[in-house]
Amino acid sequence: MAKSVLIAGAGLGGLATALRLAKRGYKVEIVEKNGNAGGRLNQLKKDGFTFDTGPSFFSMSYEFTEFANDCRIKLPFEYYELDPLYSVNFSKSPVTYHLYKEISKLAAQFREQDPDFETGFRSYLDKSKRLFHDTNVVIKSNYDNLFEYLLTLAKVNPLHLPVLFRNFYDHVAHYVKSDDARQILSLVAFFLGKTPFDTPAVYTLLSYTEFMHDGYFNVKGGMYRVVEGIVDELEKENVKIHYNTEIVDYVQEGDKLKYLVDKNGRKWGADIIVVNSDAAVFRGRVFRRREYTEEKLDKMDWTMGSLTIYLGIKCKLPEVSHHNYYLGDNYREYAGKVFISPEIVDKPYYYVNVLSRSNPGCAPEGCESLFFVCPVPDLSKKPRWDDRDKIVDSIIDDYSARIKKDIRPEIVSRTVYTPFDWQEQFNLHRGSGLGLSHKMMQIGGFRPKNFDEVFKNVFYVGASTIPGGGLPMVVIGSRLVTERIEKYNVKAE
Ligand SMILES: Cc1cc2nc3c(=O)[nH]c(=O)nc-3n(C[C@H](O)[C@H](O)[C@H](O)COP(=O)(O)OP(=O)(O)OC[C@H]3O[C@@H](n4cnc5c(N)ncnc54)[C@H](O)[C@@H]3O)c2cc1C
Repeated sequence: MAKSVLIAGAGLGGLATALRLAKRGYKVEIVEKNGNAGGRLNQLKKDGFTFDTGPSFFSMSYEFTEFANDCRIKLPFEYYELDPLYSVNFSKSPVTYHLYKEISKLAAQFREQDPDFETGFRSYLDKSKRLFHDTNVVIKSNYDNLFEYLLTLAKVNPLHLPVLFRNFYDHVAHYVKSDDARQILSLVAFFLGKTPFDTPAVYTLLSYTEFMHDGYFNVKGGMYRVVEGIVDELEKENVKIHYNTEIVDYVQEGDKLKYLVDKNGRKWGADIIVVNSDAAVFRGRVFRRREYTEEKLDKMDWTMGSLTIYLGIKCKLPEVSHHNYYLGDNYREYAGKVFISPEIVDKPYYYVNVLSRSNPGCAPEGCESLFFVCPVPDLSKKPRWDDRDKIVDSIIDDYSARIKKDIRPEIVSRTVYTPFDWQEQFNLHRGSGLGLSHKMMQIGGFRPKNFDEVFKNVFYVGASTIPGGGLPMVVIGSRLVTERIEKYNVKAE
């Protein structure tokens, strides 16, 4: 008889795992806290505008292809490549840099500051390429224990050892001299939720994935099409998603989990249970494990909080690209304070996505939908957000000055999510947007495992288990947890 699987959480991790398992003949059901699927990969429809609320692009598109092939479906959404990858503006100058994939075109923008930029950048990418290929197996494997992980690590070319002791920024600076280029190239570290000064240099492999191996991609119609597409496929497999069902408790039977219990006291059981809610938070709050009490969670290293702003404006901004970063002129000082000092939000750095630039259907005629992401301290460092409107106004003023167009009188729709909103919506610890950080002692064998320490029939998928956060990583995680479940199933038979 087909084994039944219950998945707690309909984020990308839960949805992708559900489809992989349903296609293998498991009988799958999902319970989700909120009224819609997608988790952080979500959308907001308001006042005639559509906004991506979290992810606005993805890398490593081949992981989605692997997922579709594994499920024997055509990928249920269309994506297209970004070139330039994004644009960057500094407050000190009116120049906007465009991150073209064609290296000579990219290099032309830095030639005055650093005549050797192209040579340095090519050798940086060459090193990133070797890092990527030599560490790929570490990212894409399951580990039964720490020893197995360390054994896999030991197989990585020892020539890469120095990058373990260097941060992202210093590694970039080793290859390129231009100050602007150093800041722009190390911005990727923020995508991992930390600063370039506290992100290990091993992650410079991401530069290879963005510039050479693959690229950055947008989804036609907005990022939420990814969720809608997978949900459609799940419907074809008769996978039911029960919304507004938050799991708060459990019932154990021997070394197995018998039921998850929702807020209304309803019991949900299955042969196998997959947790897509944050793997550390769920162990602490629902399973009440001593290793994951609130105090222990606070001692772990979490990624940044996010202040996100969704604006509908009644004019067009033809001069602004789809993806844009707006930086100040104090990068190192800013990075030193951004996750710890509440006052940093007075002069923030931020990212702006103009979804309607490439998806006209996401805003009424003659309008644009803008989405701002501003990295901020999480709730442990800035617990109060009663100043949020003042902060948002100052970001809007700064943005208006940068693009030389006062958008304040044009705003017809305005929504803001503080780290508190992110925490409440998705049970994210202290509003940390990307989950546990990817520091060396929190990745691979050190990250919360994708199988439970106590219950033999419980597994985890998502940003805070292996391999980590970001859409492609979560898709890899859905493959890894599926492999684990298949192995468990064979053993159990
Ligand atoms: C502002 C922001 C911007 C980002 N931008 C990008 C980007 O551009 N590109 C990129 O690749 N990544 C980006 N990310 C990261 C990406 O969104 C995440 O890594 C990914 O979506 C995480 O998916 P997940 O399945 O692990 O978790 P989630 O999306 O959090 O899904 C978990 C689900 O579980 C539900 N849940 C939680 N607790 C319970 C419970 N007790 N009972 C039932 N259900 C529960 C939640 O409601 C949620 O639906 C961004 C994240 C943020 C916050």
